[in-house]
Amino acid sequence: MEEVLTNPKAGYYINRDVFGADGDFITSPEVSQMFGEMIGVWAMCLWEQMGKPNKVNLVELGPGRGTLLADLLHGASKFKNFTDSLHIHMIECSPALQKLQYENLKCATEDGADENEKRINSTIAESPVSWHAMLEQVPTGLPTIIIAHEFFDALPLHQFQKASRGWCEKMVDVTENSSFRFVLSPQPTPATLYLMKRFKWAETEEIARLNHIEVCPKAIDLTQEISKRIAIDGGGALIIDYGVNGIVSNSLQAIRKHKFVDILDNPGSADLSAYVDFAAIRHSAEEVPGASVHGPMTQSQFLGSLGINFRVEALLDNCTEEQAEYLRTGYWRLVGEGEAPFWEGPDDQTPIGMGTRYLAMAIVNQKQGIPVPFQ
Ligand code: SAH
Repeated sequence: MEEVLTNPKAGYYINRDVFGADGDFITSPEVSQMFGEMIGVWAMCLWEQMGKPNKVNLVELGPGRGTLLADLLHGASKFKNFTDSLHIHMIECSPALQKLQYENLKCATEDGADENEKRINSTIAESPVSWHAMLEQVPTGLPTIIIAHEFFDALPLHQFQKASRGWCEKMVDVTENSSFRFVLSPQPTPATLYLMKRFKWAETEEIARLNHIEVCPKAIDLTQEISKRIAIDGGGALIIDYGVNGIVSNSLQAIRKHKFVDILDNPGSADLSAYVDFAAIRHSAEEVPGASVHGPMTQSQFLGSLGINFRVEALLDNCTEEQAEYLRTGYWRLVGEGEAPFWEGPDDQTPIGMGTRYLAMAIVNQKQGIPVPFQ
């Protein structure tokens, strides 16, 4: 999964813009500006709880086109004390997407103090921006706000299946005619250690019901890394993704041009993603002293409590009929559930609500108290 998505030559994300109507799938920041604006409200509230530090790392994991942060910065631009504090760090493996992020954040490059040093600023809020391949590369020592929207679902997972000889990992094999097929491992694999760890966090009855299970070691390790950083440096992380608050059985999917396709069909040409196991994230974060975990709550509750209803009304007060239509469908996609009841357009374009499928969870430094809107 990691190779298929992020291989430096042929990885799915590496050479292209995959989002939107002409791409393979659409995400919340691309659906409406209100998404990034609401995340901005969340980040500002957290920053206040952090004691309004005058220097903060704002890290986004997997920023896609950079739309979320661009909307966040536009929305927060009146709050100068907040935007002046920001040092933006983009964690992005794709050079093509890094370039789009540079453009969408309206970046400008200046010469730094010495000849070889370049400084990049987002002119939306005059904040410095830098790019990294991994969170580890972001300098420590500053309080940090981390945003991960649809990032955890792209982390490589391992699938296990119950067989007569016990739990076996599902592996990919090459057949005689060079196509791919799934097989079960003949003996325990290294990822079995993570399966054992995941089982320790589950009830015996929950495990007994399962014949198939997905475990994401990278999600468990990344959560620990985030939690440790926040426990030491202060701040918090917001994770929003589709998923469940418990063990995920069998959710790995491939999407090309907005349609589900076979996982093994032409790897690298379709997005691979899986449901996020929020319970595993919670347990993993709880192992880190000094970090506290809140949620998950549905995206609908999360955005509603942050005031998206007021925002949509304010925007609707001052727009054309065409923009109003766009705002209403965007609002439904973000907070609604199922098909939009008001839709009068073509059936195959009916907006589908993501309000309950997507969950939000926060990990914060314990000393800061409970973050908004998890109280
Ligand atoms: N957050 C964006 C994009 C989600 S798609 C949005 O909501 O629109 C996943 C993003 O994570 C892409 O930008 C992809 O290039 C990046 N990505 C995936 N795996 C990664 C990895 N292992 N390291 C760094 N970036 C990764």
